[in-house]
Amino acid sequence: MGEPLKYVSTRGRSPAQGSEDVLISGLAPDGGLFLPQFWPQLSREDIAGFRGKAYAQVAREILGRLLDDLGAEVLDREIPLAYADFATEEVAPLREIADGRFLLELFHGPTLAFKDIALQLLGRLLAQALRRRGQRATVLAATSGDTGSAAIAALGGREGIELFVIHPLGRVSEVQRRQMTTCRQANVHNIALQGSFDDAQAIVKALFADRNFAAQQNLTAVNSINFVRIAAQAVYYFTAAAALGAAPTFVVPTGNFGDVFAGEAAMRMGLPVERLIVATNANDILARTLATGIYAAGGVRPTLSPSMDIQVASNFERALFEAFARDAGTCRTAMEQFTQHRSLTIASTALENLRARYDAVAISDTQTLLAITRHYERTGQLVDPHTAVGLAAAEGLASAGPLVVLATAHAAKFPDAVRTATGQVPLLPERLRALYEGEERQTVLPNDLDRVRDFITAHAGSK
Ligand SMILES: *Cc1c(COP(=O)(O)O)cnc(C)c1O
Repeated sequence: MGEPLKYVSTRGRSPAQGSEDVLISGLAPDGGLFLPQFWPQLSREDIAGFRGKAYAQVAREILGRLLDDLGAEVLDREIPLAYADFATEEVAPLREIADGRFLLELFHGPTLAFKDIALQLLGRLLAQALRRRGQRATVLAATSGDTGSAAIAALGGREGIELFVIHPLGRVSEVQRRQMTTCRQANVHNIALQGSFDDAQAIVKALFADRNFAAQQNLTAVNSINFVRIAAQAVYYFTAAAALGAAPTFVVPTGNFGDVFAGEAAMRMGLPVERLIVATNANDILARTLATGIYAAGGVRPTLSPSMDIQVASNFERALFEAFARDAGTCRTAMEQFTQHRSLTIASTALENLRARYDAVAISDTQTLLAITRHYERTGQLVDPHTAVGLAAAEGLASAGPLVVLATAHAAKFPDAVRTATGQVPLLPERLRALYEGEERQTVLPNDLDRVRDFITAHAGSK
């Protein structure tokens, strides 16, 4: 084997790093996002060979090319373990819902949302890399619900890691809150912030920007700016396309653009895909961008699909970097302009490059509820509101090949919307019923940076 694959920053001012550094640091030091220096290529034969193979085995083959720096033995051991606890052996089963139309079910992990697929693996790889280096780390995450519980399920009880999850007090669903607060692992700290999700995210950003604190704590990010999450999510695009044996159109319920960018990553590694459809709720910045070429952030509007209530989609920077033909100088200038003016005009060549791959559709809450109702009437299956945004976006689409909608959460995670649309209350899977018996643990803190910093210092110590 040659040199391990190196990663470069979308802003071009960080030295190239191996995948272990990318895993541990998350964000590049120049404020950009990491991407592989080149995309490893899989041949048509490699991809055809994935058909019928176990999910973990396909993951091993793809991630072996992207995360080679972590070592073959580590990947051989940790990848199968990461997927051993999923409720289905297939991990990400593909179900036909109409002629040529499919749901790719990504919610069979421990917390019932697709974020488990990447985080279950990331948690193991992170603990392993820290152990190898003899380091400890503080992981900090702001959550509107799903990321927090998935991070807790992935990192709870892992040696060398203290995890702090900040959620907005009173603004997550009861299932989401209990999934976080009933965790009994001593290294998990839930902060219920007296503020909004944006306030929580602003505090996390400020703590990462506090260089002394970040260095003292060895602060690590596990949100989708961490490329290891994107890499792990690229896998199910391959398994789905291989199972279908044709180039699909993927419809992806989108917030931070991480999941749909994993589709672009799969395409760039050689996977034939017809189109990627960005399905958003009323927070439609991406749909407006593709239509007008102007990327402009407005205020966040609360919807029935809260995990997609995002205006500034961090991972869009990765797609822009590729659309700028990997010109890091142009990407850096563009992102600086966006930070300053909250608006950015995308040059026509780059816009054409984005449009060659992506379409976007914005879906209202009314359409979301209607999609849940219709899907229930046609199939008897209950879907969650995020998946329903994808189904509604797929409704009017014609496609030559198969059409695959990513089902990103289990209906039982968002029972209120499902009940409104169908009159049915989705049942929690058996293994999650204990949620309602466990004692809850959380610390309520005011929306105050210093108070949060002090709390973390007191409970994590220094590294
Ligand atoms: C996080 C999340 C999304 C959005 O995914 P991104 O990678 O942020 O675009 C969609 N649906 C559910 C259920 C989620 O938890």
